[in-house]
Amino acid sequence: MINYNDLAKLVMARLEELGNISQSTDYLDRRYLTPEHRQANRLVAGWMGEAGMISWEDQAGNLWGRYECLDPNAPRFILGSHLDTVPNGGKYDGMLGVVAPISLVHILKVTRTPLPFHLDIVGFGDEEGTRFGSTLLGSKALTGRWPDEWAKLKDENGISLPEALKSFGLNFDNVPQASVVDTGVLGYLELHIEQGPVLEKQNLPVGVVSAISGARRFDIAVTGMAGHAGTVPMALRQDALVAASEMVLTVETLAREHNVVATVGKIENKPNGVNVISGRTQLSLDIRSENDAHRDAVLEQIVQSFHQIAARRQVGLVINQTHTASAVQCDHRLQSILKNAISECGIPTHTLPSGAGHDAMAMARLCPVAMLFLRCDRGISHHPAEAIKTDDVAVALATLHSTIKHLAH
Ligand SMILES: [Zn+2]
Repeated sequence: MINYNDLAKLVMARLEELGNISQSTDYLDRRYLTPEHRQANRLVAGWMGEAGMISWEDQAGNLWGRYECLDPNAPRFILGSHLDTVPNGGKYDGMLGVVAPISLVHILKVTRTPLPFHLDIVGFGDEEGTRFGSTLLGSKALTGRWPDEWAKLKDENGISLPEALKSFGLNFDNVPQASVVDTGVLGYLELHIEQGPVLEKQNLPVGVVSAISGARRFDIAVTGMAGHAGTVPMALRQDALVAASEMVLTVETLAREHNVVATVGKIENKPNGVNVISGRTQLSLDIRSENDAHRDAVLEQIVQSFHQIAARRQVGLVINQTHTASAVQCDHRLQSILKNAISECGIPTHTLPSGAGHDAMAMARLCPVAMLFLRCDRGISHHPAEAIKTDDVAVALATLHSTIKHLAH
């Protein structure tokens, strides 16, 4: 009889220990190719060894562990997530998806479960992009897709990515060797905290991700005419801030009506004086959906409304796109295996999209991908208050165990 609860307690204790490895003494901050990255890789590699896995580091600084198949030429199935954090981050985002699968391998070992594939666990060195400003460096290396211009990326201290790799004992020119493109990857499954409040609201420990939303982002400039707050009559104003405010509310209304998430999170107003009518207001817009066509259709409506508001209020409007990413659909077969596994635990299944980006996005270029979300306290993440429950980790372990057994048949 496997005691998932005892194993979950071990996972929690290990996450606590890993969460102490930080380049800051005040909060958790662990970035790519730092001495703390090396320290984290060593600690996790030790746990992999205890679970009977061989471990190694690839040419991009990602940590790997393998529960070997008897046939050395067998394909591989990959479980994993990232070992880096944002500054002042939490100890579960990423790390859970590396540490929990090690306990799964322990179960496979003690139950002497042979697999028809190598079961690999990867701890990506960079997902958050905190050090070099570009995200998913670790998982993108696996796809053999590091663009040459990344040689010019620098961190806040002026250290370039090739220099940082060198100080880690690696070489920028060798990063393509981290590619796993031709190594028979059957699939990639990532366990991750939800980073949102949906599972908690539904009172569910875990949920199956349907797709990772694709985001588009824009800079929007609204230009009016600055003027004296006392002398220009209301009817004769071209108030950029009031026009922008109407636009912000329109974004909320249309997003709610059409079931996408859209956010104006940043606003800059000029001249921003207490007795001056606003002359120019700049807004950000971030819009996401698991369905790109639907997202773009809603965006079209938002843009149309913006133009109507600008025309009615006689203000100028310039909209510039700054970022676009397509949604990634999770594999249907892996999703249904996960749902069966959850049902076997006697838990209702719930499917939800991921509004945040994950390593699985890069991995989708290589193989079928799936994600299992774990409930987190109040949906808080990227914050030291990030918290999960031991009981939920036990459910996740049981779900992963059953999933791997299904995949092995
Ligand atoms: Zn993460």
